[in-house]
Formats: sequence, C-alpha cells, structure tokens
Amino acid sequence: MKLLELNHVEKSFGDLPVLKDISMSVEDGEIVSIIGPSGSGKSTLLRCATMLETMDRGEIIYLGKKAVWGNENGSLSYAASGELKEIRSQYGLVFQNFNLFPHFSVLKNITDAPIRVQKRNKDEVYREARELLKKMGLEDKENAYPCQLSGGQCQRVAIARALALKPRILFFDEPTSALDPELTGEVLKVIRSLADLHIAMVIVTHEMAFAKDISHRVIFMAGGVIVEEGTPEAVFASDNERTQNFLGRYG
Ligand code: ADP
Ligand code: MG
Repeated sequence: MKLLELNHVEKSFGDLPVLKDISMSVEDGEIVSIIGPSGSGKSTLLRCATMLETMDRGEIIYLGKKAVWGNENGSLSYAASGELKEIRSQYGLVFQNFNLFPHFSVLKNITDAPIRVQKRNKDEVYREARELLKKMGLEDKENAYPCQLSGGQCQRVAIARALALKPRILFFDEPTSALDPELTGEVLKVIRSLADLHIAMVIVTHEMAFAKDISHRVIFMAGGVIVEEGTPEAVFASDNERTQNFLGRYG
C-alpha cells in the first residue's frame, strides 16, 4: 500500500522554481533516501510533503486520502481541517537542528504532544516514552534539559519525540549534518535500528555509505527535478553524468 503519493508538485520562491514537476511515492515500511547537491530542493520537498510549506501546484495523498489537490483553474484545495489533522498524525519530521523545546525536560519534550494534543493516557505515554529513551540509549537523561545534552543526544531525543506520536512515516532532513563526525555514528545507528519498527522513512542525507546501506530506494535530485531513482545498487552504479558527478564529490 502507498503511504504517500506526491503528484506533479511544483513550487517557486518568487521567480525561482525550486520544485519542477516532482512525483514520488512511499510504500508502507519503505526506506527512501533523497540525495543531491545543496540547493536542489530537498528540504523544500520535505516541507511541502509535510505541509509546513505550501506548494504552487500538484497533489499530496496520504494513505489514499487526498490532503491537497489542484483544480482546473490552477487553485489548490485542501482536505477539511478534521481530515488534515488525521493526515498530519500519520507522519513526523526530524530536523537538522533538532528543534527541541529548550525549557522542557527530555521527558516532557517527548510526552507533551501525545498527552496534550493526542490526549492519550498519561501513564501509558510516560511508559512508552521511557521505553523509547531506552531504545535511544538515553534512559538516564529523562530529567535533563536540551542545553545539558550533546548534539547527538539532542537528535536522539528529537527522534524519540517523533516516534512517541506513532507515525506511519518519518521524514528526516539531514539528521546528522549539524553534528560533529564522532556524534554522527550514534544517530545513524539509532535510525538504522528503526528499520525493525516497520515505519516508513524518507531520509535526506549526505551520508552516502549510510544511504546505500539502509535504503530500499534512493532518489537523486538536482536543480528541482528527480534525476533518477532506483535501488541503491542501481543509483550508486549509475552511468548518468549528473549522478556520477555528484557521487564523485561525496564518494
Ligand atoms: P536543499 O535542501 O536541497 O539544499 P532547499 O530546498 O533548501 O535545497 O532550497 C532550494 C532552493 O530554494 C535554494 O535555492 C534556496 O535558496 C531556495 N529557498 C529555500 N527556501 C526558501 C525560502 N523560504 N525563500 C526563498 N528561497 C528559498
Ligand atoms: Mg536542505
């Protein structure tokens, strides 16, 4: 089953076209990496797919339900607010800079939305949050504040926070690019361990060895278009000139 479908998505900032007719989909449990040069539109694509940013044209479908779609006159329609809320609960986003709440403890960062927004049972939410912290190797940090943690620990809290909302699909936008090299490994290891949870993941990354190893499918973007996509084996061995040029710089 397709969890997410993007059809013919277009987005410009002023005169600058950033996404040009992008179509892609994500299957249940699938791990998709998006690679490509800086400025190619990867973050904008994630921000449009998660409706943090409005697009100009195109269609977004989650679990077969249309979230956004285009009309014949060029305008866009959105699903009703109740339906959008339901759709938004299907996915989570992990940012480059963690975006934790600085004045909340680690535990409160993770439990606040499930309790306050999803109105779930507090005891159950706390129990699950502690299990997640254990999975992240942070069981002794529940009372710490973000400023007391390393970047790698902050990112693992951000991942736990996203998982606490029980998404079907998790988006990562360069989850390790703000980290020192020695902290990158611990975060990649945690992301790798999520593969067992059967959550679909869309990962924008410059960690080529990681993308090659973890992904079911790799998408190479450049200049606002999907240049090619396929299995990691196919994309990393591609004879496409743009792909080879890019991989040559990162290989
Ligand atoms: P990537 O994540 O692949 O590095 P981005 O999606 O961040 O690329 O950016 C693609 C292009 O869109 C870049 O030229 C960037 O400068 C431009 N851009 C991104 N966000 C904005 C914005 N909010 N306003 C204007 N231009 C933007
Ligand atoms: Mg980016």
